[in-house]
Amino acid sequence: MRDARRDLPSVSSLLETAGVKQLLEQHPRNVVLDALRDSVEAARSAGGSHKTEQQWVDTIASAIRNATRPSLRRVINATGVILHTNLGRAPLAGAAIRAIEQVAEGFSNLEYDIASGKRGSRYSHCVGLLTQLTGAEDALVVNNCAAAMVLTLNTLAQRKEVLVSRGELVGTTNRTHDDDYRRAITPKTAAIVKVHRSNFAIEGFTADVSVERLVFIAAEHGLPVIHDLGSGLMLSLDEYGVGGEPTAPSAVASGATLVLMSGDKLLGGPQAGIILGKSAFVAKLRKNPLARAMRVDKLTLAALEATLRIYLDPKQALKQIPVLAMLTERLEKIETRAHSIAEALRARGIDAEVVPSEASVGGGAFPTAKIPSRALSIKADAAHFEEALRLGDPAVIGRIAEGKLLLDLRSVTPGEDGVLTTAIAKARA
Ligand SMILES: *Cc1c(COP(=O)(O)O)cnc(C)c1O
Repeated sequence: MRDARRDLPSVSSLLETAGVKQLLEQHPRNVVLDALRDSVEAARSAGGSHKTEQQWVDTIASAIRNATRPSLRRVINATGVILHTNLGRAPLAGAAIRAIEQVAEGFSNLEYDIASGKRGSRYSHCVGLLTQLTGAEDALVVNNCAAAMVLTLNTLAQRKEVLVSRGELVGTTNRTHDDDYRRAITPKTAAIVKVHRSNFAIEGFTADVSVERLVFIAAEHGLPVIHDLGSGLMLSLDEYGVGGEPTAPSAVASGATLVLMSGDKLLGGPQAGIILGKSAFVAKLRKNPLARAMRVDKLTLAALEATLRIYLDPKQALKQIPVLAMLTERLEKIETRAHSIAEALRARGIDAEVVPSEASVGGGAFPTAKIPSRALSIKADAAHFEEALRLGDPAVIGRIAEGKLLLDLRSVTPGEDGVLTTAIAKARA
């Protein structure tokens, strides 16, 4: 038998083909050469290959596409977990995306005061909106909530101690009362920290001390109270069936000295850590040299400012901020979308049905809330189909439950329904 490997074309002969010459006009020579060599090598390791010239060109073009695909790229989140840290947390509102574009395209007044023509401060940009929306005296924005906590503790409690209830650390159940705090205060105590239990809930025989009580106890000793709120919910969602999560304005009203929260959880903005609180304390944080190492960039500030501005009209916030729109979307609407996708799939010969599903907030908020939703369930080998969808372009991430792959539509933006339908059809092809 002939060795098929002897039929493999040489690199130089492929370079002479019209198809590869065209690829060379569209891509850097090194990229084309690497893709070409890799394609021939892959055929050699597979024991040879009988391809037409056009098939070689298609193989090389596909290798180029893979090699030049961005590492960080868009995916469709059909997991039903709205704030998924692995999937980049909050998608941004249109206004925030446009604000980033404006500031990215040209120069900006990041640290320039246009009115006086003098040096300004990057910290000034979101302060007005944050104080107006939350009732805080002052505000400071850093890179994320973890940075906000590091900066706060470094500023207020270096070489001292802070009190945290054991029930607010993962993995322990506990009851904490006023006197537990009072007894724990020593001359070295610099602050009392209240951490919102965002990734877990403690059920059963528990008790904790409210922020209002902590403020009272701390005041007896002249101590500040730091409230790590996490999610950054700006509006109450009680009337949408997802209640119980404290809002930023209510956290500020509880009297904590400083309230810390993320920008990219329920606030629905870019990754950021937002510190709200009493002017004298925020001023101390701002002056800490460590703040320089945690400072936010202009793109973050642009997106955050635009996101915050939407909240001036709460009705618009529920519509325009994607995480809030997803959370509050009526079930009937999701059901209608699910049925029209299922119908489009059946028209392409794919066996799809709509099934009840439970979505969740994720990302450290409403740890136990289950939100009624609808999912597409496609008749296929779940593991194989899951992989085909994940490796597609765009990648679609679903979840497997009871041996079935479910694609939950609550975490998919309605604008993505068409792309999702095509991706499913391609993965089943
Ligand atoms: C998510 C969360 C954090 C961390 O926020 P990052 O912005 O990711 O740094 C801190 N505390 C709580 C309570 C959280 O929920």
